[in-house]
Amino acid sequence: MERSGTNSVSSSNKITQVNKCHACAATHSLLLLSDLRTSLFPLDQPLDSGQPQMTILSFFTRASRAFNGHPAASKLLVLCTISSGGLLAYAESQSNVGSPIVDPNQNEPRKKRVVVLGTGWAGTSFLKYLDASAYDVQVVSPRNYFAFTPLLPSVTCGTVEARSIVEPVRNIIKKRNGEIKFWEAECVKIDAANKSVSLRANFDQNLVGNKEFSLEYDYLVIALGAQVNTFNTPGVKENCHFLKASPEVEDAQKIRMSVIDCFEMAVLPGLSEEERRRNLHFVIVGGGPTGVEFAAELHDYFQEDLVKLYPMVKDLVKITVIQSGDHILNMFDDRISTFAEKKFTRDGIDVQTGCRVVSVSDKEITMKVKSKGEVCSIPHGLVVWSTGIGTRPVVRDFMQQIGQADKRVLVTDEWLRVKGCEDVYAIGDCASISQRKIMEDIFTIFKAADKDNSGTLTVDEFRDVVDDIIIRYPQVELYLKSKHLQDVTDLWKDLDGSDKKEVTVEEFKLALSQVDSQMKSLPATAQVAAQQGTYLSSCFNRREHCKEHPEGPRRFKSSGQHEFLPFRYKHFGQFAPLGGEQAAAELPGDWVSMGHSTQWLWYSVYASKQVSWRTRVLVVSDWTRRFIFGRDSSRI
Ligand SMILES: Cc1cc2nc3c(=O)[nH]c(=O)nc-3n(C[C@H](O)[C@H](O)[C@H](O)COP(=O)(O)OP(=O)(O)OC[C@H]3O[C@@H](n4cnc5c(N)ncnc54)[C@H](O)[C@@H]3O)c2cc1C
Repeated sequence: MERSGTNSVSSSNKITQVNKCHACAATHSLLLLSDLRTSLFPLDQPLDSGQPQMTILSFFTRASRAFNGHPAASKLLVLCTISSGGLLAYAESQSNVGSPIVDPNQNEPRKKRVVVLGTGWAGTSFLKYLDASAYDVQVVSPRNYFAFTPLLPSVTCGTVEARSIVEPVRNIIKKRNGEIKFWEAECVKIDAANKSVSLRANFDQNLVGNKEFSLEYDYLVIALGAQVNTFNTPGVKENCHFLKASPEVEDAQKIRMSVIDCFEMAVLPGLSEEERRRNLHFVIVGGGPTGVEFAAELHDYFQEDLVKLYPMVKDLVKITVIQSGDHILNMFDDRISTFAEKKFTRDGIDVQTGCRVVSVSDKEITMKVKSKGEVCSIPHGLVVWSTGIGTRPVVRDFMQQIGQADKRVLVTDEWLRVKGCEDVYAIGDCASISQRKIMEDIFTIFKAADKDNSGTLTVDEFRDVVDDIIIRYPQVELYLKSKHLQDVTDLWKDLDGSDKKEVTVEEFKLALSQVDSQMKSLPATAQVAAQQGTYLSSCFNRREHCKEHPEGPRRFKSSGQHEFLPFRYKHFGQFAPLGGEQAAAELPGDWVSMGHSTQWLWYSVYASKQVSWRTRVLVVSDWTRRFIFGRDSSRI
């Protein structure tokens, strides 16, 4: 297992920092963390600002020296410190217990009714920041907890326990003194014409009561997330494990049990070596961050724990990652893909790129090797399918009602309003923003900017509208950045290299003609979902104020201003844990960081980003337990 160097590399391909000891890595992590931890998952409380940075640094410099050479001890100390701080804070937070019982049928004074569907990243961050006293808020989800999905791969191998990464919804909403009502039910139909949603409670037990009911809304927030996408590949539903099919936490628990089943089966007497090998062949379909992280977790689980318990089959275990693209982690910087592939090769994880799975049976997985056009089959003991996401049936049905049947996900405008539908918003994985192209409005913008109707636009006239253009069409700023242009009027220079004083409409169109090429759809991540939830709650909180005092960009097609600024996503970086206490990360400012220090950063960010002190303490103590005792291999 490779454990030596750690590289932190700037976008200019320059190696700027090499951290070789774990304790120094912690210091490095803390520096980056101060930027990152408030931003990666904004569901969390802000960072305490009382502690001067220098004090933290000098403490860690001394700690680095003291623990240099004792990396395991340094890890444990930090983890224990975080845990004990957590316990204190948790004790404090318990003073505010007891939520009033709310009668669902009571007639409340007529506040606008807001119905929120889903309690994932998007729905929870919306609820967390919404001024619930201003609305009659009801939230619906078939699972009564929030799950910290980035730690799910750790649950599959018992690195953290399932209950450590979930927080009951009622714990989250109890802080609102009953202002928010929660119904544990599944939405089966959205009726936009009648502004209502039909719900069904799915309790297994023989409980009495009405399990089907409906809610009317004035505003609907759809935060239903997405489901697994099998691309209709035969046999996948029946023979694969997922991390997004049923509630994800249950999926992760099923994988954990199945991994142990594979080992227990493989050591039973009477099996041939070929059968044992088959049972111990773990295949992961999809080389994105989730698939790669699961492969890395499984490798660590085997190397650090299972190898001691099942020594008789240690040479028969194999992990294969199948990826249809040319590289794993291809949404990351090339340096991260290369680093991950090299590390996996050293670890003995077989990475098969350029292969498309065509079917899966209970014994074999069949794939087409793109380069050769050949079809081959490999035996497997367990397959985890992790290849992208699809639309939930209830969302698909709603899309058909509102004329979006041909779209992949629910389409919203830049204010997260569902297109073709009044008072309905969609956030998170179930939605995608359709950013307006500047070319669609080019003549309108020109006309609005040409105040004297001269048929040409002067630099001053253009400057008058440029701020609104940049807010309304964020691709302009991205384009300027990509071309290293300082000022938007530099675009005019591009035309013939000279300093133009004014342009015609055709020249204006030509100058901006490439700008829309910078438009990108947002990734389906917790970061996007949480930022959208926070943004939408701030719009709801200031609805009345912004009606009177609009703060958005000017409307080019009509007069006046938009009420709100459009949603703007800020990317704060992304992690890819690679096992063996190493991780890779893309950090703000086009930085990439790889190695042991990045794993430290990962621990710090993920501990600090837990939604409550309770889960923070549980997660950190799970990590501590794993460092001391290893992972638990009981099949429960
Ligand atoms: C294994 C794994 C690892 C991941 N790791 C990362 C990571 O490291 N970083 C990152 O940024 N992102 C990560 N993601 C992606 C991230 O989890 C999603 O982008 C995020 O959860 C999307 O948030 P959401 O609120 O849109 O959907 P979800 O979080 O999926 O929430 C959807 C909600 O809708 C509810 N729901 C479903 N159906 C219904 C229904 N019919 N009626 C009512 N409610 C319903 C669900 O119960 C749930 O509460 C990971 C995802 C997975 C599966």
